[in-house]
Amino acid sequence: MKRIFVASRGDPEHMASLFRTQLPEHEVFTQAPQRGDAPVPYIVVGRPAPGLIASVPGLELVLSLNAGIEHLLASGEVPDHLPIVRLVDDGLADGMSDWVLGHALAWHRNLAFYKDLQAKREWSPQPEKLARERIVAVLGAGALGAQAAGHFVRFGFQTRVWSRSCRQVEGAKSFAGRDGLQAAVAGADILVNLLPLTAETANVVNANVLGALAPGALFINGARGGHVVDGDLIAALDGGGLSSAALDVFRTEPLPADDPLWSHPRVLLSPHVAAPTHARTAVAEMAETIRRYERGEKLPHLVDRALGY
Ligand code: NAP
Repeated sequence: MKRIFVASRGDPEHMASLFRTQLPEHEVFTQAPQRGDAPVPYIVVGRPAPGLIASVPGLELVLSLNAGIEHLLASGEVPDHLPIVRLVDDGLADGMSDWVLGHALAWHRNLAFYKDLQAKREWSPQPEKLARERIVAVLGAGALGAQAAGHFVRFGFQTRVWSRSCRQVEGAKSFAGRDGLQAAVAGADILVNLLPLTAETANVVNANVLGALAPGALFINGARGGHVVDGDLIAALDGGGLSSAALDVFRTEPLPADDPLWSHPRVLLSPHVAAPTHARTAVAEMAETIRRYERGEKLPHLVDRALGY
């Protein structure tokens, strides 16, 4: 009987019970194994406590509870020989799409602006644009970026995607490389960041990129705070280059109480909830990964340590 250690910090018992339903022939447990215990080939982790992974005997596969795994690589907690499978599931992708499209559509139709007018009892219709008159640039065309971009296409926005390998999304224009980045963001009304945080993508949203957008653009960050040069973002908001920023992720989380982003009038922030992990969809995916592994099949969504995602 193969063993699965569910080391999630949320509600590990709930997750373990879902695993037992999916994989009844496996032993699933939530307490760290003791020295001399039988081998545990699988661990399910988000942010493991220091030394936890090293303490698990006979580990073969690390199943990440998150799509972003930069913290696992940076911490050095996962030895190089252990494969890491990051979480890709429709619960995450649907959650992120809702959050991104929600912000984009609200901004596109001036909803926050009219809310302010309502408070002043002011009747002041603004010029309203059609989606097809707006350009959206989505950085990252992976599991989350491609789905969000597909929604923008269906809503009629002129959609561009930027990825490392020039990934195609039906109805969108694809870009890659540093030159491609400038071309992708040039004149965009809405910039969406859904990149993984790697050595190459850190600080990618900087004065150059923000300065290339259409005047008064919206920036939506659902990926990581480390992608953004905060000083450049605040300068763009203060200078009017950006009209608004919707931020779910920050360099330091929780966002420190004295961070200027909390009170910036043009910032809408949320506490890293754009695409939370949903136990049911996540466990279904991870159980399928384990089945594939045991059948000796190629694993999807394996982290490439050289690329960092
Ligand atoms: P993914 O499937 O790995 O997709 C990443 C995309 O970024 C791919 O299109 C990839 O290009 C592109 N990319 C990577 N490095 C690049 C580079 N140097 N230049 C240009 N493009 C590059 O990742 P995902 O599942 O969509 O997740 C994206 C990120 O969202 C995660 O890493 C995580 O940080 C964040 N996230 C946030 C939340 C939240 O609640 N806020 C929840 C889940 C995830 P290729 O297609 O060519 O490989």
